[in-house]
Amino acid sequence: MSAPRYARVDDAFVTALEAEIGAECVSRAPEALERHARDESDGLYFPPELVVQPRATEQVQALLRLCSERRVPVTPAGGRTGLSGGALCVHGGVALSLARMDRIVEIDERNFFCVVEAGVVTERLQEAVEARGLFYPPDPASRGSCTIGGNIAENAGGPRAVKYGVTADWVRGLACVLADGTLLRTGGKLRKDVTGYDLTHLIVGSEGTLAVVTRAWLRLTTRPTAFRTALVPFASAEAAVALVPAIAHAGLDPAAIEFMERAALEAACAQLGVRVGHDEAQAYLLIELDGTDEARLDREIERLGELCLERGALDVWLALEPGRRRELWALRRAMGEAVKRLSAYREEDTVVPRARLAEALAAVGRITARHGVRAITYGHAGDGNIHVNVLQGELDPERWATVSRTVSREIFEAIVALGGTITGEHGVGCVQKDNLPIALSRASLALQRRLKTAFDPGWILNPGKLFDPE
Ligand SMILES: Cc1cc2nc3c(=O)[nH]c(=O)nc-3n(C[C@H](O)[C@H](O)[C@H](O)COP(=O)(O)OP(=O)(O)OC[C@H]3O[C@@H](n4cnc5c(N)ncnc54)[C@H](O)[C@@H]3O)c2cc1C
Repeated sequence: MSAPRYARVDDAFVTALEAEIGAECVSRAPEALERHARDESDGLYFPPELVVQPRATEQVQALLRLCSERRVPVTPAGGRTGLSGGALCVHGGVALSLARMDRIVEIDERNFFCVVEAGVVTERLQEAVEARGLFYPPDPASRGSCTIGGNIAENAGGPRAVKYGVTADWVRGLACVLADGTLLRTGGKLRKDVTGYDLTHLIVGSEGTLAVVTRAWLRLTTRPTAFRTALVPFASAEAAVALVPAIAHAGLDPAAIEFMERAALEAACAQLGVRVGHDEAQAYLLIELDGTDEARLDREIERLGELCLERGALDVWLALEPGRRRELWALRRAMGEAVKRLSAYREEDTVVPRARLAEALAAVGRITARHGVRAITYGHAGDGNIHVNVLQGELDPERWATVSRTVSREIFEAIVALGGTITGEHGVGCVQKDNLPIALSRASLALQRRLKTAFDPGWILNPGKLFDPE
């Protein structure tokens, strides 16, 4: 199949669409187009031709029917916090914002489930279920502005994934609209379901290229009420990450094990105007245990502290006050923005088997040194998922364009050689598309293209992401 040709959004299209779904859902206003031209990916700008903000699934169906008939591309968007350009209209066409479909339809306490529309902001859902003593664990650091639809499309993770898993582990059913406007329902309030292919989990993580999610059935658990949080300084990054498998061997099950190298913590401290740090430390782990049994957590944090010191930690700082715990997490959440402020950068979302983290960091160090650039690393060490931020620093833009691409490719090759892969939670989007063959075989890519064609024969859904037609 050759690259599809797309139609432009013209007056006739807008008139037909407004007749179907109402003019109040459709905008060509320059502010709306401008707002949807960017997400949180560095330096990308792709204005759509039209912004559509439906309030109901039927309106999404009508839009997609029309777009399929007229070959107009459609790109779903949630909170536009994505880091791989996923919500950007790289082929123009319609930006389909799910932001107005933001109802929490049901919180079912007896079955530990909730049903939500795609545009619900993740933190709002978390607060709503926590008020009922329940818990929705996936917690991307962007949770104050990202949406459940975007989390599903990216299979978002976050610090708590080490204990609770990623978004896919909590999604048990979907309502979604296929490219031709067909409504597809999968799963439901079921903890087990092997009835046919698992379409729910094919759509989770498909980055808006297979279907538009309008509603989700999400599993919940009991809300943890007690926490023990420690910041642990180490003399080297290697010593810090070597602790990660040792924690699991000791039978401890932390909710989070976050890694941050010294420069990352310093950047976050500068951004928030606080002072935290150890003079000799080159890296830190932020470790949190959670549960409902205070006495048990006391025993576990004591064991964890001993283990850290046995394994070479310089100290173990417990966040004894709730305010201190909030401050440590605020620092961790500010880290992405803080590093971004230091310099233009390229962020790579590497994952390796967690026992190979030290080798991965060493490879990053070797590659960046060879090309005369600096990288700052931090991330979800408990999952082997480290964000490598390669900084432009003093390099002129032309040289940076070449060097950054080469450095990223070499880092990915080294990561894949360690049994890892090129993105753990940020997705491929348009940013990592060219690097996909480093991680996926030809057979895998060919099958994925066939799946895409089966879902979306005209390739109108979020074109230009993941891969192009052969
Ligand atoms: C400061 C910061 C911290 C972050 N921390 C984390 C983190 O800890 N963990 C993590 O995993 N990510 C993190 N991210 C990345 C980002 O927040 C996640 O990828 C998030 O899931 C995107 O959600 P969104 O609603 O903003 O989606 P958008 O950015 O709007 O869209 C992302 C993708 O989802 C698709 N999409 C959106 N809604 C739908 C829908 N209803 N149906 C089908 N497709 C849809 C879009 O087409 C696009 O491909 C972070 C980002 C920032 C800026």
